[in-house]
Amino acid sequence: MRRAPAGATPQTRVETATMHDHRRLGRELDLFDTDPLMGAGLPYWLPDGAAVRHTLEEFVRGCEQRAGYRHVYSPVLGKRELYEISGHWSHYRDDMFPPMDLGAEQVVLRPSLCPHHALIYRSRARSYRELPLRMAELGGMYRSEPSGVLGGLTRVRAIQLNDAHIFCTPEQAADEAVAALELIREAHRALGIRPVRYRLSLPGEGGKYVADPALWERATALLTEVLERSGVPFEAAEGEAAFYGPKVDVQIADGAGRESTLSTVQIDFHQPERFGLHYIGADGARHRPVMVHRSVIGSVERVVAHLIELYGGAFPAWLAPTQLVLLPVSEGEADQAGRLRQRCLDQGLRAEVAGPEHGTLGARIREARLVPYQAVIGPREAADGQVALRLRDGRRLAPIPADEALARIRSLVGAGSPDLWEAAPAGE
Ligand SMILES: [Zn+2]
Repeated sequence: MRRAPAGATPQTRVETATMHDHRRLGRELDLFDTDPLMGAGLPYWLPDGAAVRHTLEEFVRGCEQRAGYRHVYSPVLGKRELYEISGHWSHYRDDMFPPMDLGAEQVVLRPSLCPHHALIYRSRARSYRELPLRMAELGGMYRSEPSGVLGGLTRVRAIQLNDAHIFCTPEQAADEAVAALELIREAHRALGIRPVRYRLSLPGEGGKYVADPALWERATALLTEVLERSGVPFEAAEGEAAFYGPKVDVQIADGAGRESTLSTVQIDFHQPERFGLHYIGADGARHRPVMVHRSVIGSVERVVAHLIELYGGAFPAWLAPTQLVLLPVSEGEADQAGRLRQRCLDQGLRAEVAGPEHGTLGARIREARLVPYQAVIGPREAADGQVALRLRDGRRLAPIPADEALARIRSLVGAGSPDLWEAAPAGE
């Protein structure tokens, strides 16, 4: 990891932060960009950035599937009444885009996914046997940020959120929140993300929050229990809660020490009430479920910005936009390189060929310095079906059969390994 070394002076910390500013790296590495005509705070993703994002999305969906979540899709627009019911209209309107008039009705770009998920829950009769019902979606939401604060991937108006809502009985809520926090910690470990602190975010002064003291007390007590059971040190902070309830925020920091929230867990008694949600209990009577809101990796914009800065663009092989670059020494090996690239693509590896038309071998190796694996193919390697691998960390391996190299890389990538060559997973 390329971070400011421990004990770095403030000056070098700032230099490192500038060097690893995700906005600068994003442009230099062709990951994402903006166009004034698309609008401020509305970045688009270039193929390399899209490859990283797609891999992350698949990663988090896999984590969720294994943890018993089912995925849904819901629209990014909703009628104004939907947000009046959820409370967003009265507590959160300043952060929402103005409504669009469609004849007799008004629709708005959604500021969160919760109301849609509450409606999906409500669309069918629910029995206690179905609970906990874990509903996940990686979907769009919108925030009307003032143009002055917009920039890069961290301050945007269109957000793709890794979101989920767990509908459960009151007795299940703490266990579900503990499991969600564990899922967050596992995902962070796999991604190399180290949170700077866990925050119990409580309401502050003012009318921003729903007024229901019993609700706040109950949810705060449960979240405190969740944090204590999880064994993570935490700090309480007033004025950081959602308008409908307290939350656990998992905080990260950038190279300059600026803190932001990446992942969250919330226990919510308010929205089930507002939407009149219920399930039929073992006693045959109607009961009110609890909603646990949680995000494992936050928004794809924020997590990718963080990973760009964390790794300085040198992503772990499984996340790298190009995992393997094939370097034919001369035109004579170009066909061999082209065929090998197709084999990589067939096996699900992201590979490119950088042929002699791109300059000397040395120049091409330098150009590909962030690519985890560089496979040099000279006349001898081409004749023997071999490659001479160079790893991003500078190691140079003796020529080995191309199939062997591909199998090893595929196995390391498939295991999400942080190592480039050792630590082949067990059972290989
Ligand atoms: Zn929610």
